[in-house]
Amino acid sequence: MTSTELVKGRYLVTGGAGFVGSHLCERLLNLGCEVIVVDNFITGRKTNVQALLRNSKFSLIEKDIVEPLEISGGLAGIFHMASPASPVDYMKYPIETLRVGAHGSDHILNLARQKKCPVLVASTSEVYGDPLEHPQRETYWGNVHTIGPRGCYDESKRYLEAITMAYHRVYGVPTRIIRIFNTYGPRMRTDDGRVVPNFCMQALANEDITVYGEGKQTRSFCYVSDLVEGILRVIQCDHVEPINLGNPNETSIFDFAQKIIGMAKSHSKIVYRALPQDDPKTRCPDITKAKKLLGWSPEVQLDEGLRLTFDYFKNI
Ligand code: NAD
Ligand code: UDP
Repeated sequence: MTSTELVKGRYLVTGGAGFVGSHLCERLLNLGCEVIVVDNFITGRKTNVQALLRNSKFSLIEKDIVEPLEISGGLAGIFHMASPASPVDYMKYPIETLRVGAHGSDHILNLARQKKCPVLVASTSEVYGDPLEHPQRETYWGNVHTIGPRGCYDESKRYLEAITMAYHRVYGVPTRIIRIFNTYGPRMRTDDGRVVPNFCMQALANEDITVYGEGKQTRSFCYVSDLVEGILRVIQCDHVEPINLGNPNETSIFDFAQKIIGMAKSHSKIVYRALPQDDPKTRCPDITKAKKLLGWSPEVQLDEGLRLTFDYFKNI
């Protein structure tokens, strides 16, 4: 199964003006699909989809999906990507984050029920919290601090998964759940606070690279085109339970900082800042399930993905 086999119909993308959503829209249009985006621009930007607005198969609705939503006509599928995603963003907007995961998801799942179409929802590796299992398999239930500063996001996404399964069990909606692990690439906001834009912008400006804690915590970074390919395979399969999508190539944040300095040929020095509360110590996806079910695994190496990302940050 590949993305090219996707039914060439009319798709709704919530959060389509965000980083991942805009790449997904671009790919859908390139495949010949029609795309409707609903976004309230809380963390996304119209510029992310500016070029797509010239395409007659693309339309953009500025709307908060926490409010009820009506879309006329049929839909071939829904991709529910709307939610603040960067820790800096969701800690700035904790109520909005919880509401979009709860009320927003309810509205979108109800729309899928009305339209009798599949709906894919974007969950996250954050449902595993500060994981006690490594790498994380879909069977792991997680270790989440519900009332900590990240709880607004983690619990929003855990609720998203729960209500998605409820719509499937009660109404038979064809639902899909993906758990996305750290993804990067062009169109991330330079100020979204995530490690990739922070380190890239700091290295390009020869400013200090801010490593939080001692930099021993690990992450594994997936290039956005690999994620989009995975998303388009998941919506076509009939597997209802969560599927991890991410790159299992794990690195410590300290090593990552050194890599960025080297690639940018930067004079930046590493400085250490306080580790944010509840920052997960390790994170790495077990992608055995995605490999088996979808024949999917990431193809873009970190060096190649970072080069493309640097090019983007240099040019904006
Ligand atoms: P992003 O912030 O760039 O995009 C999210 C988009 O959703 C933005 O355009 C924002 O304006 C929109 N949005 C938020 N609340 C909304 C609302 N109430 N109504 C309408 N639109 C709303 O983030 P992203 O990195 O592109 O993440 C996209 C999705 O993938 C999110 O659901 C996120 O939780 C999930 N995810 C992303 C990553 C990652 O590494 N990028 C990792 C795990 C999960
Ligand atoms: N991080 C860092 N310096 C920064 C930004 C982030 O050391 O300037 C660390 C952060 O503490 C975390 C990792 O990089 O351990 C990834 O952070 P990010 O905000 O990208 O996403 P997270 O994986 O925490 O959701």
